[in-house]
Amino acid sequence: MKRRIGLLYGGKSAEHEVSLSTAMAVIKAINFDSYEVYPIFISLDGQWHRGTQLMAPVESIEQLQFKVDGNNKPNNITKFLIDENGEEVNFDVIFPLLHGTNGEDGTVQGLLEVLNLPYVGNGVLSSAAGMDKVIMKQLFEIAGLKQVPFVYFIRNEWNSEQDEILSKCEKELSWPMFVKPANLGSSVGISKANNKEELVKAIKFAFQYDRKVLVEQGIIAREIEMAVLGNDNPKVSVAGEIKPNTDFYDYDSKYKDGSTSLIIPAVITPEVETTLKEMAVRAFKILDCSGLVRSDFFVTQDNQVFINEVNTMPGFTPVSMYPLLWQHTNVSYPELIDILIQLAIERHNEKQ
Ligand code: ATP
Ligand code: MG
Ligand code: MG
Ligand code: MG
Repeated sequence: MKRRIGLLYGGKSAEHEVSLSTAMAVIKAINFDSYEVYPIFISLDGQWHRGTQLMAPVESIEQLQFKVDGNNKPNNITKFLIDENGEEVNFDVIFPLLHGTNGEDGTVQGLLEVLNLPYVGNGVLSSAAGMDKVIMKQLFEIAGLKQVPFVYFIRNEWNSEQDEILSKCEKELSWPMFVKPANLGSSVGISKANNKEELVKAIKFAFQYDRKVLVEQGIIAREIEMAVLGNDNPKVSVAGEIKPNTDFYDYDSKYKDGSTSLIIPAVITPEVETTLKEMAVRAFKILDCSGLVRSDFFVTQDNQVFINEVNTMPGFTPVSMYPLLWQHTNVSYPELIDILIQLAIERHNEKQ
């Protein structure tokens, strides 16, 4: 029997557009002989709309963005379980293809838990902990994972203790510094600061996206990413290197200008590869992850390995690093979709 899949995409998030391209790609690749595919679109203002069953891949992103009628208020979110005739659709699994807030951060995962629906990827705790860069780094510290020093504060502290915060950054970190909103992704809200003036500007900019901001010490290093797949016994892919053509790997270099090169497998020593694999699994385990994670690392010229972050719902188009890393580890994109769905069902059954 075909499995009934709800693809959840869009979302009330700064990464809404990225999610739409991911949804397009998954719909193109998913095996319609194995699955009944239902699109569920979350508009930018957070309204949920389920479309009718797709019988074939759609032609354009516009077809995935259903009209929002204004009647589907957020408190009617569970309407996505009901079809156009008012009958309930019993989904076998929900595939959240959402990045950033309200999707990658445990909120949607919590809703699906309450509805007792199996879903692909990380659960509530790992999603929330992975989305908040400060909590994530504190957990990494507990796990003994090497990372760059950082300072963090909330808006209220910044408003009342700006001078103290700036001197703390200057005392504990060296230039350049990277300023980030705590809860985001795709480099949205991130800037590099080379001096105090730029730092103030960067902090104000980051506060436009979050009430918590972190300032990290900048590091001169190669950027290497690892893909992790599994539940209790996760597997790690080959390593991939990112070479942005810009000052750093910002939003445009990720999605717009196509100037970034991905080198897979990355040219690294066997020792560095072993360290990366070991650190990727430790990060996966300390956050209690399931399904998938992409871990981002810095590798310095003298082969020191620092963890930068994990992404609990990494970019997932066929040209994104996560699926490409698996492709080079002999798992194709359609196979990856099948494995993730299988892992979701296994985890759900284990909990029952
Ligand atoms: P995504 O989730 O899309 O991977 P993100 O928004 O979570 O991105 P980071 O991965 O933390 O952001 O940072 C984005 C980019 O900024 C990195 O890929 C790197 O190019 C640069 N960067 C971030 N932190 C540092 C740092 N401490 N030193 C040097 N470069 C950094
Ligand atoms: Mg990230
Ligand atoms: Mg991300
Ligand atoms: Mg990153």
